[in-house]
Amino acid sequence: MTAKTVDVLLVGAGAMSSTLAMLLKQLDPSLKIAVVERLKNVAKESTDGWNNAGTGHAAYCELNYTPQNDQGDVDISKALSINAAFELSLQLWSYLVNKSVLPAPSNFINRTPHLSFVWGEQNVAFLRKRYELLSAHHLFEGMEYSEDPAVLEKWMPLVMEGRDPNEPVAATFMSRGSDVDFGSLARYMMEHLSQQDGFELILHHDVEDLQRSKDGGWSVLVEDRGTNDKTRIQAGFVFLGAGGGALPLLQKSGIEESKGYGGFPVSGQWLVCTDTSIADRHLAKVYGKAAIGAPPMSVPHLDTRVINGQKALLFGPFAGFTTKFLKRGSILDLPASIRGNNLMPMMSVGVNNMDLTRYLISEVFQSDGARIESLREYFPNAKDEDWSLADAGMRVQIIKKDEKGKGKLEFGTEIVASADGSIASLLGASPGASTAVAAMVDVIEKCFKDRLENDGWKEKLKIMIPSYGESLIDNENLLKGIRENTLSTLELNA
Ligand SMILES: Cc1cc2nc3c(=O)[nH]c(=O)nc-3n(C[C@H](O)[C@H](O)[C@H](O)COP(=O)(O)OP(=O)(O)OC[C@H]3O[C@@H](n4cnc5c(N)ncnc54)[C@H](O)[C@@H]3O)c2cc1C
Repeated sequence: MTAKTVDVLLVGAGAMSSTLAMLLKQLDPSLKIAVVERLKNVAKESTDGWNNAGTGHAAYCELNYTPQNDQGDVDISKALSINAAFELSLQLWSYLVNKSVLPAPSNFINRTPHLSFVWGEQNVAFLRKRYELLSAHHLFEGMEYSEDPAVLEKWMPLVMEGRDPNEPVAATFMSRGSDVDFGSLARYMMEHLSQQDGFELILHHDVEDLQRSKDGGWSVLVEDRGTNDKTRIQAGFVFLGAGGGALPLLQKSGIEESKGYGGFPVSGQWLVCTDTSIADRHLAKVYGKAAIGAPPMSVPHLDTRVINGQKALLFGPFAGFTTKFLKRGSILDLPASIRGNNLMPMMSVGVNNMDLTRYLISEVFQSDGARIESLREYFPNAKDEDWSLADAGMRVQIIKKDEKGKGKLEFGTEIVASADGSIASLLGASPGASTAVAAMVDVIEKCFKDRLENDGWKEKLKIMIPSYGESLIDNENLLKGIRENTLSTLELNA
């Protein structure tokens, strides 16, 4: 068995590892970094074009980020933090475009207005309240609201044509929304990194196991999927950016912090229309309200997509139940992840989420006709023959122990790191690739504290992400200056 040594080993070549590798290499070009990816290409799981919706999640249109309680109050705190987190991504991408590390922005991000659209008196009242609260905050300045069908028709003709004129409707419109081709973005980053000294991208290799080394780092067992040859890589720091594959590896690490976590995979499908004569009539991401019992990421939406420069429309997602943790994973992934320490949380999540179970079963058994009917709620004149069904990626939701030792299902993301900062992992899938920069800065703060304080990394981060260390939620002037630059660099202005 051969062996090699690196400072940093990243498992998986998706949005998360490519972002972390880029940040680290910019912070210290002398770092020896390796990325190990089981597939033959970069970013072919959740990060790839059609495997996700490509929404630059900024909470402009996603109604699940502004929940309403039984008293009718709308809570916007989550929307503020997601919007501020997305601003960090826009800053890093702008910095990389300005340095010519990334190509012209239209290769990976395109201005696509974000709209929330509802019908029915109760939903209209909710959207009005949401708009009043959000538009009063500087992060959401510029948001428009209308209940006038003629205005809505200008914003989204396909959604309004053929609709009952007597139905109360309302929408919010945010011009600076975006569609992001996260797959292309990750590949550009990896392409640049691969040209740097001390960086190695190891494709078609599986990380099989990992153990603590005596010196405090990790010994990682890697198998060549072509030849079955094994290699041991010694790494000072390991990041498990393996998407759905992160939980099994985290469990193999045996770190105390991994105990009690389980995963609940939800697969997805889209209806896709590649007819440009239709796609050209819709420039928007139109998000509606989720069905009762639906997980928050199943909010239906009709989206403009630009993938590899090609324009198309997407509608969905239609959720499904699976036991695979990755699109190209194994049906044994879920059963193999059951441990003594997560059995109780996993069982109690199963018992206490019957709404979700019923919803997933109904989605799985949905006919093609029923899917088209759902599409017609957003695009009344849609024709069956223009749309085809495509498989999306997999999202493994986090199950963790609650205060009572039972289980709760979480729909966010979480960084799980060892106390000594030698290993970190990203679990969960929402808001996802949009907030990869905030998540990876979090990894750096947890695992490279010393270097941040003593090696000038804080100052370097501030050059890449000018708002680093400050709150964009509280500091209006800072936000305004930064946003002016990022929107102009990334060509997101109307
Ligand atoms: C249906 C759907 C819609 C979504 N919509 C959006 C959206 O609109 N906006 C948004 O921001 N996010 C969205 N997301 C979430 C987003 O796609 C993910 O959060 C993001 O792509 C995760 O990136 P990642 O690098 O963690 O994982 P991935 O892209 O899945 O990459 C993980 C990589 O690790 C590799 N790997 C796994 N195990 C091993 C191993 N043992 N050894 C070596 N390599 C391994 C895999 O092959 C894979 O390439 C969506 C996701 C889904 C499924």
